[in-house]
Amino acid sequence: MHPFHGSPGNADVQLDPDVFYVCQRCTACCRWPGDVRIEEDEIPKIAGFLGLTEDEFIGQFTRLRTNRQGLSLIERETHECVMLDGNACRIHPVKPAQCEGFPNRWNFPGWRDVCHAVPVPVPPSAG
Ligand code: SF4
Ligand code: SF4
Repeated sequence: MHPFHGSPGNADVQLDPDVFYVCQRCTACCRWPGDVRIEEDEIPKIAGFLGLTEDEFIGQFTRLRTNRQGLSLIERETHECVMLDGNACRIHPVKPAQCEGFPNRWNFPGWRDVCHAVPVPVPPSAG
């Protein structure tokens, strides 16, 4: 288990207030094995975006998390996320907080070796 910094689930605090890492859409983090957590309040948004009922979305695209405490998106046999479509996220406008928050609101030791996000300084006025 990775010793996480921050929380993959619901953190809303920037880990480094001086630097923002801009995602380069390399999709590496969509291909790592493991849970892609879906929080309760994300279910209606994602289901609606896909034109599905909540039950349809849950049945077709989710499974229990490894710790059985909530839902995760399904991963394919290759371990990539079920929502990955080529190099795009099928639910990008409503993607889960876990996806949205990496790597600025949560990450793990060594993450810069596996993520291509580019650091830019946060202007003091934008903080
Ligand atoms: S690994 Fe980093 S750069 Fe690549 S898609 Fe994920 S956040 Fe973006
Ligand atoms: S939901 Fe989208 S951004 Fe998140 S892991 Fe899946 S494909 Fe990647």
